[in-house]
Amino acid sequence: MRQKCNPTDFLAKSLQSIPPSGIRRFFDLVSEIDEVISLGVGEPDFITPWHIREACIHSIEQGETSYTSNYGLKELREEVCKMYIRKHGVHYDPGNEALITTGVSEALDIAIRTIVNPGDEVIVVQPSYVAYIPSVIFAGGTPVPVSTDVTNNFKITPESLEAAITDKTKAVIINYPNNPTGAVMKRNELEEIADIVAEHDLFVISDEIYECLTYNGDHTSFASLDGMKERTILLNGFSKAYAMTGFRIAYALATPEIIKSMMLIHQYTMLCAPISSQVGAIEAIKNGDTQMQKMVREYDRRRRLIVRGLNNIGLECFEPEGAFYAFPSVKNSGLSSEDFAESLLNEKQVATVPGDVFGSCGNGFLRCSYAASKEDIKRALDRMEEFITSLK
Ligand code: PLP
Repeated sequence: MRQKCNPTDFLAKSLQSIPPSGIRRFFDLVSEIDEVISLGVGEPDFITPWHIREACIHSIEQGETSYTSNYGLKELREEVCKMYIRKHGVHYDPGNEALITTGVSEALDIAIRTIVNPGDEVIVVQPSYVAYIPSVIFAGGTPVPVSTDVTNNFKITPESLEAAITDKTKAVIINYPNNPTGAVMKRNELEEIADIVAEHDLFVISDEIYECLTYNGDHTSFASLDGMKERTILLNGFSKAYAMTGFRIAYALATPEIIKSMMLIHQYTMLCAPISSQVGAIEAIKNGDTQMQKMVREYDRRRRLIVRGLNNIGLECFEPEGAFYAFPSVKNSGLSSEDFAESLLNEKQVATVPGDVFGSCGNGFLRCSYAASKEDIKRALDRMEEFITSLK
């Protein structure tokens, strides 16, 4: 008889400190309930524009089904770099400063692994996208959460950043427009952060995936600030702006030394991003702006609808200026975020995400995605009002 195997004995210890995503737990609850109105998911409710799908179909029909260069198709890298000069005045060389990845998710993972040594501290501005803290831990680093606050419109302040820096701090992860708060930082505010980054000789991973979804003025890319291109790994992708989440296509821009090291991981773990998705991304950059701007205008209408509606029913909500999330306070209800979201789901079948899933400073808030139809938003607001009234 061979020795019996206990698979749990084989699990890596490093994973044991990482809790499963709080969002997942909520989606599991949602899947058990019928007729849910969902303000839960962070995913466009639009189908990818037809011309992008058509470009992919055509490419497959032509037999383009192979691997591409590890860096990604040259044409896509060139289009991305041209776009960065056009929009932000930042010059990246498509030959060695751009890497096409399988979503920002992959880019984030390899960016962190590229710069973090075991024991390095990485500052994560919170509330934050759920993948940042686990990704730092996967790389052997120590995440250091820095809270932002509604009184400051969820923007990182130079003082709070400075207070978190130690001699072990290696990098800061920032994400504006922000998931889950919708906060946006203006150029002059980012300049103050850049001063501190330079003074303490830090690196920045700037996740700008919501760049196109800004409603009160243009987006400032962190790499466009004086001296910051060399200190930044810029992450961006097609999931949100072009409703291409299922294509898994994104890119990282950084100096040649950084891209070369990111490539080292990428070529052995991912090899390359899917060719059809790369073809779709080229089409999106070349011809996708009209459709994309149409979706952004619709998000803007929904944003105003939901923010006004939430404030009217007594859930105080600061004005999100980007992404597609409203982040109202539920503190007046006397319930924690989790209890509020869970009861709202069970009693009124409205799915949202409790704010503390994005870091403890998110407690007392709720993430409501407005990547949902206006009809659904209105119905959800009615049900939320009934729910709040029932608490009194
Ligand atoms: N970064 C942020 C801030 C996000 O909100 C998301 C998805 O919700 C991602 C990255 C993942 O993006 P991708 O679909 O490109 O992997």
